[in-house]
Amino acid sequence: MHELAICSNIIKILKTQVVNKKIKKIWLRIGEISGVNCDAIQFSFPIAARNTIAENAEIELIHVHARGKCNTCHAEIKITTLFDACQYCNNYDYEIIQGNELQIIKVEVE
Ligand SMILES: [Zn+2]
Repeated sequence: MHELAICSNIIKILKTQVVNKKIKKIWLRIGEISGVNCDAIQFSFPIAARNTIAENAEIELIHVHARGKCNTCHAEIKITTLFDACQYCNNYDYEIIQGNELQIIKVEVE
């Protein structure tokens, strides 16, 4: 499961930032088209956090809708999958503005 690896990486990053403290809560931003399964994150996190500074930490996921900018008609478009076409001109050539991120936004320590 790749979410378990993602959770281990998050904890690895936190370990370099938080010294001699326990993590109480973590806020994560997850883009709609990041390919990350939110349920799998909720499930995997306690497993990855076992015997670490993040053991028993609460995890809050903030979902981010995906948006793009069409390179043909320059409209701002809504994206729900990576295979969506522009809603205005049906072109597939667009830049992703947001929605593919996975970010740690805030951490609460004890
Ligand atoms: Zn377009």
